Amino acid sequence: MAAPEFAVPELKEYPVIPILKADAMAAAKPYVASAPMNEALGFPGELVADWEERAVAKLGELLQKYRSLKVYLDACVHCGACTDKCHYFLGTGDPKNMPVARQDLLRSVYRRHFTPAGKLFPKLVGAKDLTRDMLEDWYKYYNQCSECRRCSLFCPYGIDTAEITMAAKEILDAVGYGQKYTNEIIGKVHRVGNNLGLPPAALADTLEGLEEDIKADTGVDVRLPLDEAGAEVLLITPSADFFAEPHVDSLVGYAKVFHAAGIRWTLSSKASEAGNFGMFIGSYDQLRRIALRVREAALELGVKRIVVGECGHAWRVAYSFWNTLTGIGAGGNDPFALQLQKQLDQRYKQPSHICEVTYDLIRRGALKFDKEANDHRIVTFHDSCNVARGSRMGDAPGGQFEIPRAIIRAVANHYVEMAPGTTHEQTFCCGGGGGLLTDELLELRVKGASPRMEALKQVADSDGVNFMATICAICKAQFTKVLPYYHFDRSMIGGVHQLVSTAIRLGA
Ligand code: SF4
Ligand code: SF4
Repeated sequence: MAAPEFAVPELKEYPVIPILKADAMAAAKPYVASAPMNEALGFPGELVADWEERAVAKLGELLQKYRSLKVYLDACVHCGACTDKCHYFLGTGDPKNMPVARQDLLRSVYRRHFTPAGKLFPKLVGAKDLTRDMLEDWYKYYNQCSECRRCSLFCPYGIDTAEITMAAKEILDAVGYGQKYTNEIIGKVHRVGNNLGLPPAALADTLEGLEEDIKADTGVDVRLPLDEAGAEVLLITPSADFFAEPHVDSLVGYAKVFHAAGIRWTLSSKASEAGNFGMFIGSYDQLRRIALRVREAALELGVKRIVVGECGHAWRVAYSFWNTLTGIGAGGNDPFALQLQKQLDQRYKQPSHICEVTYDLIRRGALKFDKEANDHRIVTFHDSCNVARGSRMGDAPGGQFEIPRAIIRAVANHYVEMAPGTTHEQTFCCGGGGGLLTDELLELRVKGASPRMEALKQVADSDGVNFMATICAICKAQFTKVLPYYHFDRSMIGGVHQLVSTAIRLGA
């Protein structure tokens, strides 16, 4: 790897609060979306002439729509409890990456326009006008928040910076100042069906190739069916699973689980993407439009169960929002939602996570494993933030932490936990979530990954950990990229179902 153009943080034995470096990340700015990208999503093509009025009006609209936003903007007492909880602040030292400072970029404009004190005595209450410089700060620093919600865990008032970030991004899109990476990808989902722009014929070819690979590897005909009407399970998985490394190994793992359990399943070319970047840009409209493809596919294929693959934010959207967005689960009450609820088998959780499916099969003795097949691996588990702090699994609190770990223990002999305070609900973000997984933000991503890299180094040094499992497509892609900056082998990141795939006995 060529020497990076920026200083990679030195990994310390224990987390240390960094020395403040004003404007350290002021140059980190993702590419702005082009006019065609914005217009395809119904946003103005470029920054509108009257952006200030429109941005303030949009903020007013969001304050009316989301009571939580107003509460978050009013409630902060600047106690400072959140300041050192953000991985981007810890990795960069830029004070504007402190969660409270990030919030204040929007809060100061809110106070100026929507509070009596801010209108009359702006300087006294930290109220500020929305200048061009402020708009630039919004663009830069709300695009340096991965919406991971770690800071909210430590806030005595439960203020959720991620929601403030989403509101800011919604305002930026409304004035024609959206971000290229997210808006381009959302356009691809609408046009082609997935984030990668993989057309149905290419998807069919890829799946066929994978079936041949599994046959060559195991001698068993394990199928990866596409668009098979009448299947029991519709699997919705991130498109990265179709060919990115190490993602594809987990897709093979899901296929082997369904094969071994005798469950008839299918993928869909219409809904060939679990990811939903509508959440990252705070757009309810986009969130819903993307999610509705899943409902259409489920109705067309007549499936009885909907299962979601290894993708953190996709599971959060599925678990927390699919019910009211699409009627998958209870909630939606339009005719299509009601039709789908009637069609789905209500003996199962709708939707289910693939880890819930595998865990249930393990508990019922329906899967058998050769754990020794994973003996070359000493495994740890990285909790992905959207799973840890935005969803649940199973029937008991904390299932989102225990179920993936229980699967790992069932398929591998060597498991080591990373330090408390860096896992479970306090997990650190990988540094690439929230729509930041783009090359022009590489410095931010590398630096933001440093708290996780510190915790990983501890267990690598103490216990020889050489494999970090996770259940998120973004985490996998991000770590594959940043691990070498910290002198780790990029192949040490992989999926939980990659471990399952290695150990499962087919035909058992
Ligand atoms: S990246 Fe996470 S910890 Fe940092 S401000 Fe955003 S939500 Fe909070
Ligand atoms: S912890 Fe909460 S109240 Fe305290 S500064 Fe942070 S956001 Fe404000």
